[in-house]
Order: sequence, then C-alpha cells, then structure tokens
Amino acid sequence: MPRRASGAAPAPAPARNGEISYWMSDLGPVPVGEPLAVDAEADVVIVGAGYTGLWTAYYLAERDPSLSIVVLEQHRVGYGASGRNGGWLTNTITGGHDGYAAKHGVEAVRAFQTELNATVDEVLAVCAREGIDAEATKGGSLLVARNEAQRRRVAKYVDHAEKWPEEGVVELSAAESRARVNVAETRGGLWQPHCARIHPAKLALGLADAVRRRGVRIYENTRVTDIEQGVARTEHGVVRARHVLRATEGFTTRLPGRKRDWLPLNSSMIITEPLTDDMWAEIGWQGFETLEDLSHVYAYAQRTPDGRIAIGGRGTPYHWASRFDTDGLTDEATWSSLSALVREWFPVIGDVGIAHTWSGVLGVPRNWRATVQYDAETGLGAAGGYVGTGVTATNLAGRTLADLVTGADTPITRLPWVGQRTRRWEPEPLRWVATRVIYGAYRWADRSEFRGLTHTSRVARIADVISGR
Ligand SMILES: Cc1cc2nc3c(=O)[nH]c(=O)nc-3n(C[C@H](O)[C@H](O)[C@H](O)COP(=O)(O)OP(=O)(O)OC[C@H]3O[C@@H](n4cnc5c(N)ncnc54)[C@H](O)[C@@H]3O)c2cc1C
Repeated sequence: MPRRASGAAPAPAPARNGEISYWMSDLGPVPVGEPLAVDAEADVVIVGAGYTGLWTAYYLAERDPSLSIVVLEQHRVGYGASGRNGGWLTNTITGGHDGYAAKHGVEAVRAFQTELNATVDEVLAVCAREGIDAEATKGGSLLVARNEAQRRRVAKYVDHAEKWPEEGVVELSAAESRARVNVAETRGGLWQPHCARIHPAKLALGLADAVRRRGVRIYENTRVTDIEQGVARTEHGVVRARHVLRATEGFTTRLPGRKRDWLPLNSSMIITEPLTDDMWAEIGWQGFETLEDLSHVYAYAQRTPDGRIAIGGRGTPYHWASRFDTDGLTDEATWSSLSALVREWFPVIGDVGIAHTWSGVLGVPRNWRATVQYDAETGLGAAGGYVGTGVTATNLAGRTLADLVTGADTPITRLPWVGQRTRRWEPEPLRWVATRVIYGAYRWADRSEFRGLTHTSRVARIADVISGR
C-alpha cells in the first residue's frame, strides 16, 4: 500500500491542508473566545474544550446549576480530536470486552455495552434538545471484508458477536454488504445499528454554545501549564477550584509528569469533493452507514450529506518524542495513500479531487483502555485514553465525571472503566522504535493478505501481542 488502480493518474494535491480540519473550515470564520485575563475562582475547573471537557461541563451544570464552572482551552473549542475526527458516533468499548470481563466479570461488561449503546441516543437527544445541528444520521456501521484473509476474520467477529450480543453485530453476505455500500472486492461484511455519522465540529461548537448558555465560562487561547490539587496554572493566571478535571487526551503528554501516560498517536484524514449523482448510483450508501474494512492498518469512512466521502486512518502514526502536527498539516505520503485507498474502494470516483487533508492526535493508554478517574479527597479527576473511539465515550465520561464530582453513586459510576489504571509507556527511543515496528508489521501483513495469503498473517498477530492491543 498504497495500491493505485493500474493506469490511474496520481491524484492532485488536496485543495487545503491542515487548518485544523475540513470540519472546522466548513464552519466558516468562528471568532475565538477571550483568554483568561486575571486569576479566577470556581467550584470546578476543567482543562480542555474538546468533547470530554464540554460534556463534563454540560452535565455538571445540569446536575447542579449553582456550580461555578470554568473551562480552559489552549487554542480554541474543538482544536483537538473533537474538531477533527471521522464523525463516527458509535458504541465501541475501547480496548474490547474480554480484558474488562476477565477483571470485572461478564455482567459488568454487558452493562457497559448497554450504556454505550444508549449513549449514542443520548448524544442525539441532547443535540435535538439544545438545537445542535450535528447533521446526524443513524445508519449503523458497516465493516467490509475485501480479501480471503479478511473474509475468514469475519468468523472471529461472529463468534465475538454471539458472546456479546448487546453490541448488536450481525453478519452480512457479500451481496447484502454491497447492497448497502458497493465497495470493490467485497467478500462479506458485518453491520451493527448503534452508530450515527455526524459533523464533528458542529457537535463541538454547538455543545460549547449550550454550555455557555448554562453559565459556564470558557476561556480560549489559555494554555494550562500545570495542574495541582485545587489549582490550574495557566500562562495568564491561575484558576483555583475545589475540583480540577483534566480533559486533555492526546495532548496530556505535554503536562508536567505525564509524558508517558498516554501515547499521542496520529490519525489522518482526507475528504473528497462532492461526487456526482451517477457515482452515488453506483456506490449506493443511501443509509449513511459509517464504513471500514478489515485491514490491520484500518481505515474509517463516512458519507456526508452533501455527497463527499471522508476517509481516514493511515499515515505517520507517531512522531519522535511525542511531537505533534502543526494545526493538522499532513504529509504527501499520507494523503496520497488515503487518496489511493478511496479510489480502490470506489473505482467509479475516478479522478475526483481531494478538498482537504488534515491530521489529529489521539490518546492511547498502555492497555488501550479508556478511563474515568476521580479522587474525592483531592478533587482531582480526568477522563480520556479513548484511542480512536471517543466520540460517544466522551459523553459517558462527562456524565460519569459529573456524577462523581457531585457525589452521586449511580450505575454509571460503577462501570468497569471508572478508576482503572495502567502502566506507563516505555521511554524513548523504545516507544518510537516499537510504534514504527508495529505499524510496519501491520502494513506488511495487509500487503501479504492482499497478495493472496488466505489466513490472518502471523506477523499481525505478533504485532497485536507486542502492542497490547
Ligand atoms: C483523525 C481522527 C479521527 C477520529 N475518528 C473518530 C471517530 O470517527 N469516532 C470516534 O469515536 N473517535 C474518533 N476519534 C477520536 C475522538 O475524536 C476522540 O476520542 C475525542 O474527540 C476525544 O475528545 P477529548 O475532548 O477527550 O479530546 P480532544 O478533542 O483532543 O480535546 C482536548 C482539548 O484539550 C486542549 N488542551 C490540551 N492540553 C491543554 C492544556 N495544557 N491547556 C489547555 N487546553 C489543553 C486541546 O487543545 C483540546 O482542545 C478520532 C480522532 C482523530 C484524531
């Protein structure tokens, strides 16, 4: 990979690159809020104005309108993954079911899955209630097998679905899968209903408006340099509060003492120009399912209401010493690989242009499991580590943090991700070398499977074990 259809001309460069994301640009100019100007006091201070921080503020203000709540954001609302993601509002348990079941029992994991299914609907209900037009369509999620090894992996997912029926996954024949979305070389598929496609930035900014309407103060261009019990220090002043909550996800590595907590992994995306009606007639995709295939280096896609395809996944997964992209700027190898992939899935789109490419950063814990933490004694809390599946989980995390901070003992405060901890990532150069080796292995495994290997490559299995995925 990339594997361009033979004879096809190289795709032209994207019209726009970086600028946070297509989704943020699509909103047009949105003024950035004022920074913190002087020291302040509050009941709760939240660091980070992505979905986690905003949902936490939203539910705290709802649970107890008398609370004074401050949100501090280093750049602007939605600057992080929340303004850049693939727009899958889906029911995934980050890190999977089995690891949690081994530690917490099967029933706890069933409750977790049921809650995540309901969380998809909770997000849609809040959008309706608050007048947030996130362009949501709940069409479920389609996973497609495109070679023999991938087709055989479907059986593994079917076994898993029998064990965890709450997830709602059903097997599709190749014809059934193609009837939904006509992906080239489809050999079978899986579908589950608990997923909606959304416009990520419209959700983030709409939520920020809803939060402000409830009296929450959001300060933008205000970077927090340190967090301690009772205080968040910024470049402009300090905010003192009984409760200090960290919602910094992939950027957490920059905070003092947290360099090795969550690995900042990059994910990159492109979005096409609108396709023609003839192309859509060939592709189908009338149900707006979110879409991915069973490659090891997976790719995820959605169809937008105005007829574009947004697809993401490949690229440089990790930069030396946890360095970040500049406002989502993406290298040519990455966007051209994604551009080749979308044409491979849908040859009918020919040389349709790429409107925009961008990248973002996710937080990956050593055990690949997200977490919600709160210490009632110190008032310190945090949520994150969602890997690539936080759009729904952030809502549940925000509700859970709100319950924990207000001292409510509820079913969601007892879910298995609450309070769980994991070991830290290895120091450099091990971290950099291991990430490169693992992703190289996944790419190698995908190539072998597309060249005719009929079972899952052993190399991929070994990479899974090493990465702890
Ligand atoms: C390209 C891409 C595609 C993805 N696709 C999907 C998908 O389709 N479905 C899905 O479920 N998940 C997806 N994800 C993951 C999902 O977007 C995230 O899990 C989710 O948005 C995390 O929200 P968050 O609020 O915790 O983090 P973020 O959105 O990253 O927010 C953290 C915020 O904290 C701010 N911040 C950080 N440090 C500081 C500081 N020191 N001081 C002040 N502010 C600070 C940042 O600027 C940022 O705004 C994707 C992620 C990426 C990057």
